[in-house]
Amino acid sequence: MINMPPPPEPPLSLVGAVDAAGQLVDVECADGIIVAVHRGGGKTTPLTGEIDLSGMVLLPALVEPHTHVDKAYTADLYPNPATDFDGAIVASARSFTEATTEEIAARARRALLAFVAKGCLSVRTHVVVGTFFGMKAVEAVTGVVAELTGLVDVQVVAHITPPVHGPAGRENRALLRDAIAMGVTHVGGNPYWSDDPVHETHACLEEAAIAGIGVDLHTDETLDPRCLTVMVLADAVKRTGFPHSVVASHCVSLGVQPPDTQRRAAEALAEAGVSVISLPQTNLYLQGRAAEEAKPRGLTALAALHRAGVKVAAGGDNIQDPFNPMGRADPLEAASLFVSAGQLDPTTAFDAVATSARSVCGWPRVALEVGCPADLVALPGSGLREAMAEACTSRVVVRRGKVISDKFARGAAVAGGGL
Ligand SMILES: [Zn+2]
Repeated sequence: MINMPPPPEPPLSLVGAVDAAGQLVDVECADGIIVAVHRGGGKTTPLTGEIDLSGMVLLPALVEPHTHVDKAYTADLYPNPATDFDGAIVASARSFTEATTEEIAARARRALLAFVAKGCLSVRTHVVVGTFFGMKAVEAVTGVVAELTGLVDVQVVAHITPPVHGPAGRENRALLRDAIAMGVTHVGGNPYWSDDPVHETHACLEEAAIAGIGVDLHTDETLDPRCLTVMVLADAVKRTGFPHSVVASHCVSLGVQPPDTQRRAAEALAEAGVSVISLPQTNLYLQGRAAEEAKPRGLTALAALHRAGVKVAAGGDNIQDPFNPMGRADPLEAASLFVSAGQLDPTTAFDAVATSARSVCGWPRVALEVGCPADLVALPGSGLREAMAEACTSRVVVRRGKVISDKFARGAAVAGGGL
């Protein structure tokens, strides 16, 4: 039997949109990449496959660098009445004990399709694995990822429960290796939960080095300034010369350190080549609940990290689960919070769910430039800031030069971009 190659996608012209700066731009796509960009709306000859994007902003496809699709949409099924972190752990553990593989897969599929409809075509999700959780979530999510491979690129991080190090971690290490054999792409974990964060961090790096894959750890989710496991990770990467990508996720305690400690930690991360993913939604929801006044925001030290040259991305973390009853599978939500809670300018905030997030996760660069992958999203607005503020869900999504979702009601756009 001869396997015929799939027929090439017909060329696609996207006309009438503006770019992030509000300048008219027409983009032509062929063979999955951008083949021409006309600034100022210079193209005059209508092509077959032309799509009118008047009233919309055309942007690189969005990126979700940190989510948990295995927990998505469980907020009502497994409520967290305490509304705090410990309550979320209990409710979430129950969800994995009681749910079937098929139920977890159905919710993961719903989450990934929700990302696609928002124009997010690259997703990194953490998935629980370990002696308590078993392999159920890994089976469910890797199955859905294979099913949706034509729609969305997904990296799966094995979110292994401590311990991984020492004799007590033997069983978890075996399960971690099983998960890697099943196709997970990164080693995750929570070293700060361990009784020995230093050895736990080294064990995660060792397992990843054996498999030849990267690491993405929940470095800490606490406002306790004594928990500086982010420095442990930077030091371990530097000492071992770990050769693959390393991400420190959350890094909440870094945000409550004195400026000099923030600077030293940020410089150590930069020197070790460790990137940071901040998760504003869940941190704002869970952190600082006991404070009656001057509540801390729970975000990491964004300014110090940027000054040191650390690559920073923003993730949505939890989607309507016991850790966060909100969450709408839209990276523009995290970007908006980087503006309002992180006090960054809109361009830097958008970069955290686009170019910087791609770089942190190792996906190819996407921009409105010839030769880049034609992975794009258009949504109503007169420029980037307005598009982010409105975050309209009526979007046109282009993957590899083909429209895969078009929820924009043409003719409904009004001046200023609102619907
Ligand atoms: Zn997380």
